[in-house]
Parts: sequence; structure tokens; C-alpha cells
Amino acid sequence: MSTDLKEPDWSGSKTLLSACWKNPLYPMNERLEMADGAVRWRNEVIANLRNQLEQAKADAARRDSSLQSSIEELLEYIDEPPERNCSCHVSPPCSDCVDYSHLREVIASAKKVIHSQPAQVQS
Ligand SMILES: [Zn+2]
Repeated sequence: MSTDLKEPDWSGSKTLLSACWKNPLYPMNERLEMADGAVRWRNEVIANLRNQLEQAKADAARRDSSLQSSIEELLEYIDEPPERNCSCHVSPPCSDCVDYSHLREVIASAKKVIHSQPAQVQS
């Protein structure tokens, strides 16, 4: 192993010039230990963030499943509005639209939600 270690070329480095492992006043073996510790710390941070992401995804999946069940249950208790019988062309707004259009929209929206796939989070 060579003992005349030259200072590395830091020009392409993404870390600060003030990073302790770049300080030429420390012996090279200490600088390598510091850099190794920094990498280990970074890996722990990444692992921690990945765990948090997995936990959040699991929580979201449970919540999504629970919401879908609740919406399905609600839809079973709600009376379906009658078939659309709009007469707005005679006198707008007609009683059919006034009485049922919003309920029809809400039910259609709820059915769309329970039949959709939960969002996939990339990790
Ligand atoms: Zn109408």
C-alpha cells in the first residue's frame, strides 16, 4: 500500500468542502473512518425513511379498505333515486333535477371511488 497518498480531486464531489473527511490536517486513515461513518449514517437515514414510507403505505391501504367498506355499506342503505326523467326543456329546472340530480352525482361518484384501485406509491 502506498504511503504517499495525494489529496483526492474533490472537484466533482457533491459534499461540502468543509466535510471533515476532506480536511487534510487529519491523517488519511481517520478521514476514511469519518467518511465510512458518514456513509453508515446516511444508509441508516435512508433505511429509516424507507421504513416510514412502508408504514405510511400500509396505513393508507388499511384506511382505503376501511373507507371502501364504509361507502359500500352506505350505498346499501341509500335508496336509489328513480330513473332520470328530466323535463328542463319545458321549464328549467325541473323537479326531477332539483330533487335527484345531486344525489345521482354523489352516488355515481361514490361508486366510482369504490371501484377504483388505490393509488400506488413508488418506492
Ligand atoms: Zn331537469
